[in-house]
Amino acid sequence: MKNYKPEQLERWDKQYVWHPFTQMRQWQKERPLIIEKGEGSYLYDVEGNKYLDGISSLWVTVHGHRKREINQAIIEQLDKLAHSTMLGQANITSTLLARKLVEITPEGLNKVFYSESGSTAVEIGLKIAYQYWQQQGEEKDKDKRKFVSLVNAYHGDTIGSVSVGGIDLFHKIFASLLFETISAPSPYCYRCPLNLSKENCSMECVNEMESLLDRHHHEIAGVVIEPVVQGAAGMLVAPDGYLAKVRELCNRYNVLLIADEVAVGFGRTGKMFACAHENVSPDIICLAKGITGGYLPLAATMTTNEIYNAFLGEVYECKTFYHGHTYTGNPVACAAALANLELFEKDKLIETLQGKVTLFTEGLKRFKELQHVGDVRQKGLMAGIEIVENTATKEPFPVKYNIPHRIVLEARKNGLIIRPLDNVMVLMPILSMSLTELTQVLDITYAAIKNVTEEETLC
Ligand code: PMP
Repeated sequence: MKNYKPEQLERWDKQYVWHPFTQMRQWQKERPLIIEKGEGSYLYDVEGNKYLDGISSLWVTVHGHRKREINQAIIEQLDKLAHSTMLGQANITSTLLARKLVEITPEGLNKVFYSESGSTAVEIGLKIAYQYWQQQGEEKDKDKRKFVSLVNAYHGDTIGSVSVGGIDLFHKIFASLLFETISAPSPYCYRCPLNLSKENCSMECVNEMESLLDRHHHEIAGVVIEPVVQGAAGMLVAPDGYLAKVRELCNRYNVLLIADEVAVGFGRTGKMFACAHENVSPDIICLAKGITGGYLPLAATMTTNEIYNAFLGEVYECKTFYHGHTYTGNPVACAAALANLELFEKDKLIETLQGKVTLFTEGLKRFKELQHVGDVRQKGLMAGIEIVENTATKEPFPVKYNIPHRIVLEARKNGLIIRPLDNVMVLMPILSMSLTELTQVLDITYAAIKNVTEEETLC
């Protein structure tokens, strides 16, 4: 490809591109960071500057950028086949990957339905759950058409996944397009919606879910949940035992448990899947992001045999699941995913993560001492640092100060890429980072938060 000047690229980007989740007026005012290449834990911009990738690109990179083994697997697959439809055909890598996913995911998830993004994985999970109940023998099961989801939930950006979302900033504007969902309180312990304190709450939020299920279970198809951590909500870590209790409630009230492991899956929380922290097997699991190690768009919605069997019937009965995207089960993406999963084993990634998680946990402790850090939440290698103006009242800084964005720019000046969620600074280091790199991520973030929030003149 021809070499273009950074100024030319900036001009064309601003002229032609509309960026996701981006205030485009602010984007137009600033110099964009234009990335040219990656290597291991680093990204390089078009001017040759080097940055540690503190958010694993968009929470996806597992073994680092430009990983030889994954590159190689993609090249080999490209030499055979770039794409073939899964409608009426199979391909080799999607078959092998499905077999592997069944082996590594929680017990009982035996069937794999492919798509391309976390949003579609969830959308498919919802549609499967809905149709499952419609195809049950008993008339009363056909009333199970609604979902329970959590306040602050984020499950993607398609209309179905937004319907089970609960972040007003992203979702409220679409309210009249969405289907009705029953909301249960979120385990946001720092700002408990039930005004309880973390130490003696006895998980009232799950009790609230219990009473919702008690009242509505006859009309509920499933509970959709991000296991252990509500990511986009600001890294809200649920109390121990929360997920197991939700599983128990789903069993008791005969509703499906749909686990959205799009963000927390593939090692992010320190275990291969977050459900494993509480030995939970969901009825449906939604996977994406880390599935290809951060390389190519691929997602999987997995179900139990029981759910799958409800779609068999007799050929003439037409219980088919009428859903499928053109690039479903793309062989190149599946080859990348297979190489990614092989590396998990070869590099003993989950075992080596444990030392990193300890360092990360220890390193995050001192953030609490900062004058404007209200809360620090972490599980595995994912963390959220909530910035407040006043730690006593938990009042955030006025929006006009633009504190989170200023922290991002300060960190970038010192060679680290991060991105906030509202007032929460997010750290999602690449799982393969060395201990030294992890320490740098923590040090640069600490200094950036301190410098910006403790500046003499903030406004
Ligand atoms: N579910 C969760 C929990 C997520 O964090 C995300 C993306 N951040 C999604 C679903 C949507 O995934 P995608 O952006 O690939 O559509």
